[in-house]
Amino acid sequence: MTSSCRPSADDPAALSAALAGIVDRMCRDTDRGKVADYIPELACVDPRQFGLSICLCDGSQLNFGDAATPFSIQSVSKAFTLAVALGRFGEGLWRRVGREPSSNAFNSVVDLELEQGKPRNPFVNAGAIVVTDEIMAGRAPRDALAEILWFVRAAAGDNDIFIDESLARSEKVTGHRNWSLAHFLKSSGNLKHDCELSLGTYFHQCAIEMNCIQLARAGRFLAGLNAGDELVSSNHVRSINALMMTCGHYDGSGEFAYRVGFPGKSGVGGGIMAVVPGKASIAVWSPGLNRFGNSRLGTIALEELSLAAGWSVFSVD
Ligand code: GLU
Repeated sequence: MTSSCRPSADDPAALSAALAGIVDRMCRDTDRGKVADYIPELACVDPRQFGLSICLCDGSQLNFGDAATPFSIQSVSKAFTLAVALGRFGEGLWRRVGREPSSNAFNSVVDLELEQGKPRNPFVNAGAIVVTDEIMAGRAPRDALAEILWFVRAAAGDNDIFIDESLARSEKVTGHRNWSLAHFLKSSGNLKHDCELSLGTYFHQCAIEMNCIQLARAGRFLAGLNAGDELVSSNHVRSINALMMTCGHYDGSGEFAYRVGFPGKSGVGGGIMAVVPGKASIAVWSPGLNRFGNSRLGTIALEELSLAAGWSVFSVD
């Protein structure tokens, strides 16, 4: 497709038609991936659902399919906690967590052992537990959680966003891999609080429930779509987007960059928040996952959108 006949953010009608076609194809696809079953509540989610919402630079928002259905944002929350932690502690955060992609799974214990207890990046589970632990410094877990929730609500411009307590509790009981990561961090001297407190806060942040409409709005600060809003400094936005591009899809991040070409953060609930800097903030949700633990159809939809609109940041035309 040549750039002149591409649907663009300047032509919302053409973009809307292209997106309607993409969503229609995703809804009819029979290979929906596999829902995460290591968190009991997620195993019951119907994989036939598909939602997409996009906020554009003219202030408009387009919604498709199950865009209004709430889902568990899980690791998408890690982009918000990173923003909170960078705001509070700045570059000091990097003493405790690295900025390099990982070639092992999101919950790998091997990586942590090889790096002597310093997680490779803030988006693998071990790294996110450390970021949450840092946000908890000097205050009660409930106050740290309140700040995280406040941030998400402020970014979305919507107070109707809550934590699913029963999901958080169930992950606390069944999340043995995360317990092992927390204990390894503690034994390496890289966890300031008791495993119970840091993990409890981490499980609650992962259990934030949002729909695609709210999540696309919450991502606007990363796309530079809310001019004049000082929620996060432009330097930190640049840092978060770089990390979402290189680490936001775990050991599938290279594949996501190759196929989609703009920054995104996934969660095992099947959500992806993705941003095209200066142009769009997108939330897509389809609960079935690919082998990396990222939404299968969500990734395909973003790839089709990127190709249709010419939105890969690596494109030269
Ligand atoms: N709460 C999940 C975990 O810690 C988040 C993983 C994800 O969404 O990728 O395993």
